[in-house]
Amino acid sequence: MNISILHALPTQKKLKPENANNLPFGDLFSDHMFVVDYEYPVGWINHRIVPYSPLSIDPAAMGIHYGQELFEGLKAYRRKDNKINLFRARDNFIRLNRSADRLCMPAIDIDDVMQGLKKLLMIDQDWIPSSPGTSLYIRPTMFATEPHLGVRPSKKYVFYVIICPVGAYYKEGLNPVKIYVEDIYARTFKGGTGDAKVGGNYAASLLAAEKAKDRGFTQVLWLDSCEHKYIEEVGTMNIFFVIGDEIITPPLDGNILPGITRDSTIKIAKKWGLKVKEQKLTIDEVVVAAKNGMLKEVFGTGTAAVISPVGLIHYKGEDVVIAGGKMGDLSQRLYDEIVGVQYGDRPDVYGWVECID
Ligand code: PMP
Repeated sequence: MNISILHALPTQKKLKPENANNLPFGDLFSDHMFVVDYEYPVGWINHRIVPYSPLSIDPAAMGIHYGQELFEGLKAYRRKDNKINLFRARDNFIRLNRSADRLCMPAIDIDDVMQGLKKLLMIDQDWIPSSPGTSLYIRPTMFATEPHLGVRPSKKYVFYVIICPVGAYYKEGLNPVKIYVEDIYARTFKGGTGDAKVGGNYAASLLAAEKAKDRGFTQVLWLDSCEHKYIEEVGTMNIFFVIGDEIITPPLDGNILPGITRDSTIKIAKKWGLKVKEQKLTIDEVVVAAKNGMLKEVFGTGTAAVISPVGLIHYKGEDVVIAGGKMGDLSQRLYDEIVGVQYGDRPDVYGWVECID
């Protein structure tokens, strides 16, 4: 695969932030992007790195009308020796191809895309911040571009990767969040697209998320769409409960996103000899465990926050306070381990990190 490179002119280059720590998430993008086109039956063509710029899209592009759109979210980390670490990037692209399959979109060639991503990171390496806790967020995206209004899979797509420096998620320590248990709306349903990372899932989640925010909660805890009984996941995170000496997280039943951080958490906890169960859990069981003093910790897992302790769950008008509203020991240990591996401060005994320099 040949990647053509068109460097941004000095006048096209943007000012880099002086202090990446104060950056709001997802507003500022680097100088370049990696772009590939797809045309049926030829396949992926025109691999290129070009200055970051608007895409030209036909108003009849099928992705806009019928929602063939998907994305991924991963990060690159600046190590103390100035090299760059990618964390489980291939796993994100494997998940991207599963999302593509669900929406009748073409699979990417993971080797080609990894090569394009690494080249982009090298060209825009000055955009990878180095102050503690900062990182570079990577957003691979694909959508249908064929101008056509009949409902069927598109024959043309664009895939691209854009990157943005992000500040530390936790500027004032790992403060537990308050979550609202949503028992009316659902983000997805059995047989739907819940385990795919597709834009439509997020559109479907916004109304409940806004409602929760208006009531002073950070995130929504989703329940199953049939009975509003079984716990699924939180906003943009998977969820874990420490009940007694067991760590419990909902199984990958097709409704929830198979989070990379979820998988890392399970593997680390098992390596530490802890009891981890992927099993269905009802919101009522959680409330009872809290009342009995058995609910020790609750935390979300995701690329952005890594581990996000939950201090309060609001369900049917009642507040359930967890671990006295404080960060639990296990949440802290897991956070330290994952972040340590990501930044190269702790040994990568899991084989998750790819160091590029
Ligand atoms: N669930 C949803 C709905 C998400 O958007 C995310 C963030 N990608 C996660 C879970 C966590 O996944 P990951 O650990 O791969 O970031």
